Amino acid sequence: MVTNDEALLDLALSGADVAPMLMVIVHLSGEEHWLDEVAPFIAGPWNFHESAPEALKQRMRARLKAILLDYAATGRPLPPEPPAHLLHRMLAAGVGGPIPEEYMPMIREETMLDDHDPKTVPWRTEPKDREGFLAVVVGAGVSGLCMAIKLQEAGIPFVVVERNATVGGTWLENAYPGCGVDTPNHFYSLSFEPNHDWTEHFSKRDELWAYMERVADKYDIRRHIRFRTEVTAAVYDETNERWAVTLRDADGRTETIQANAFISAVGQLNRPSIPDFAGLADFAGPVFHTARWDASQDLRGKRVAMIGTGASGMQVGPTIAPDVAHLTIFQRSAHWAVSNPNYHAAVGPGKMAALKHIPFYAKWYRFQLMWASSDGLHASLHVDPDWPTPDTSLNAANQKFRDDIEAYIRSQVGDRSDLLAKVVPPYPPYGKRMLRDNHWYKSLVRDNVTLTDDPIDRIEADAIVTKDGTRHAVDAIVLATGFEAQKMLWPMHVQGRGGQTIRDVWGEDNPRAHLGIVVPGFPNMFMLYGPGTNLAHGGSAIYHTECQVRYIMQCLRELLETGAKAMDCKREPHDAFNALLDATHANMVWAHRGVGNWYKNKGGRVVTNSPFRLVDYRRMTEKLDRNDFTFA
Ligand code: NAP
Repeated sequence: MVTNDEALLDLALSGADVAPMLMVIVHLSGEEHWLDEVAPFIAGPWNFHESAPEALKQRMRARLKAILLDYAATGRPLPPEPPAHLLHRMLAAGVGGPIPEEYMPMIREETMLDDHDPKTVPWRTEPKDREGFLAVVVGAGVSGLCMAIKLQEAGIPFVVVERNATVGGTWLENAYPGCGVDTPNHFYSLSFEPNHDWTEHFSKRDELWAYMERVADKYDIRRHIRFRTEVTAAVYDETNERWAVTLRDADGRTETIQANAFISAVGQLNRPSIPDFAGLADFAGPVFHTARWDASQDLRGKRVAMIGTGASGMQVGPTIAPDVAHLTIFQRSAHWAVSNPNYHAAVGPGKMAALKHIPFYAKWYRFQLMWASSDGLHASLHVDPDWPTPDTSLNAANQKFRDDIEAYIRSQVGDRSDLLAKVVPPYPPYGKRMLRDNHWYKSLVRDNVTLTDDPIDRIEADAIVTKDGTRHAVDAIVLATGFEAQKMLWPMHVQGRGGQTIRDVWGEDNPRAHLGIVVPGFPNMFMLYGPGTNLAHGGSAIYHTECQVRYIMQCLRELLETGAKAMDCKREPHDAFNALLDATHANMVWAHRGVGNWYKNKGGRVVTNSPFRLVDYRRMTEKLDRNDFTFA
C-alpha cells in the first residue's frame, strides 16, 4: 500500500536522492522522457556525482508525489519489473554509464524487485525428508546467520556453535572506539533483509551489531545456537560418513556431536595477531588489541601508543586523539586512504522516509550503491606490462588514483612535509586494503599526535623504544596489529579422510579450496568466507557470503535428494580453480613485490583474496556442478 499521508510523502521526497528517485518515477509511471532530462546530470553511481539543477529536482519531486498519490487513491498494484529495454535505460541513467548484460542476474538478486529472493534453492522433496540430517555451523556472525536462515527455510536440522555469548561475529568482537563499516551499509546487509533505519551511510559498530541481533531474533535463530561454546575438533568418520564435532563450553565441558555436514562460518579475521615485541610482557600499563578492546580502561588524559595503521587503526586513532594526553602512532608501513563525502554523513529523516515509504526507492538505491562499490575498479588493479613506473603504480588508471589521493593527502596535512614523506605509500594504491579517510590525516597534524615510522626495537615498563633509540614514554598500548588471517580454520583440529588434517594439506598458512568452499578429502565440509574469497577491489563480504550459501544449499540438496551420504570435491576442479586463482593474482596489485599485506602468506602467495569480479564469482558459484564431486 502506498501511503496517502502527504506530509510523510513530502518528507520522503525532500530526502530522496536524484538517481533512485528518477528510477522510481520511470518505474511507476513508464514516463521515459525523465531519463533524457535527468541522465545528463548523473555522472557516476555515488549521489555526489549528480548535479541536477534544483528546479529539475523540484519538478521530479512534484511528479513523483502525484504518481504516489494516484497509486494510493486507486489502490492499484505496483508494476512488475520494467520491460528489458526500459530497465537497461533506467539502470544506465541511474549510475551514469551502461550496465553490461552479464550483470543483470546479480542486479535482480540484489534488488529483489518482486520481494522474492531468487537465490533461494528450490526443493523437489518435502521438508520431512530432511529429518535425521544434521548440519553444524561454526560461528554466528553474518555468514553463520545467513547460513542458518537458509537451512531453516529449507527445513534442514542444524546447530550453530558460537564461542561468544551472542551473535554478531566481527561486529560483536570489534567494539573499539570509532569502529564502523567501510562499505555503504544500505548495500552491506543481507539482500533479503534490508534495513531502512541505518542512521549513517557508513554506520558504526553498534548499529551493525544491533542489525545482526535483530536478524537473529526475526528468524528465531537463537534457539539453534550453542552460545559460549567452541568447536575444538571436527573429525570425519569414514565408516558412517559423518563428522564428529567436539564442542567445549565456557566451563570446559566437552561433548561430541555427530553431523552430516560441517560448515565453517568463522571468517578470516577472528584471531588477533599479537606481535612478539621484545619486552611486551613487561609493560606496566594496559595493553590490548583493537578486537579485544578493554572498555574498563579509561584512556582519557593518558599517553597512548597505537601500533598499526590499518583499517582498525585508521578508525581508533582519530577517535581517541581528542581525548588522550598524547597519541603516539607507530607505523610500520603507510596505507592508502581515500575520502568519501558520505563517510561521516548522517542519513537524514527525509532519506529514511524515502527508503521506507517510496515504493522501490530502497531497491534502486541499493542497486546504485552496489554499482558504486563493486567491480568498477577491478580492471585497474591489473599490471600493465609496459607501464614505465611499475614500483609505484600498475597502469594509467592506478597512477591517476595515486595522483588524486596524494593531492588529497597534501590538502589535509598542509605544510607538514615531514608527515607527507611518511604517509604517502611507495607501493601502488590498492596494494594493501584501501582505507577510507576517517579524519586520519587531519588528526596527524594535531599537537598531541605523533606519527613515528621508525621500527619498534623493544618495549619497556613505561615506554616503547624505537630502533633510532628514541624512548616514547606511554601509559597504555593499543595493538591495532590485525589478525592471523592466513591461518584459516586455526586453531580447530579438522581431520578429513584417511586421518589427514587440514594443516597437513594447507600447512600453517597456505589454504586452498575449490571456489573457496570445499576441499578434496574433506567430504561434506563447507566454508563461508574461505580461502581466496576476501574482497579487496570492492563489493560487500555479505554479497560473497550469499553466493556461497546458495552453493552450499545446492550441495546439501544434492545429498538429501539423491540419498548420497557424502560428497567429496574432486582434485581436478579444485586444482584448476586454484591455478586460475593464482595465475590471476600474479598479475594483480595484491601480489605486488613492493607491498606487505595480510593477503599474502609467508611464501608470498595471496591466499585470502578473490582475484575475480563479483559477477564472475557469482557465475562460478551459481550452479553446483555435480561432476566436480564424487558421491558415496
Ligand atoms: P591490518 O590491516 O592487518 O593492519 C595491521 C597494522 O598493524 C598494519 O599497519 C601493520 O603494519 C601493523 N603491524 C602488524 N604487525 C606489526 C608489527 N610487528 N610491528 C609494527 N606494526 C605491525 O589489520 P586491521 O587494521 O585490524 O584490519 C584488518 C582487516 O579487517 C581490514 O583490512 C579489513 O578487511 C577489516 N576491517 C574493516 C574495517 C572497516 O570496514 N572499516 C575496520 C577494521 C578492520 P604493515 O602495514 O606494515 O603490515
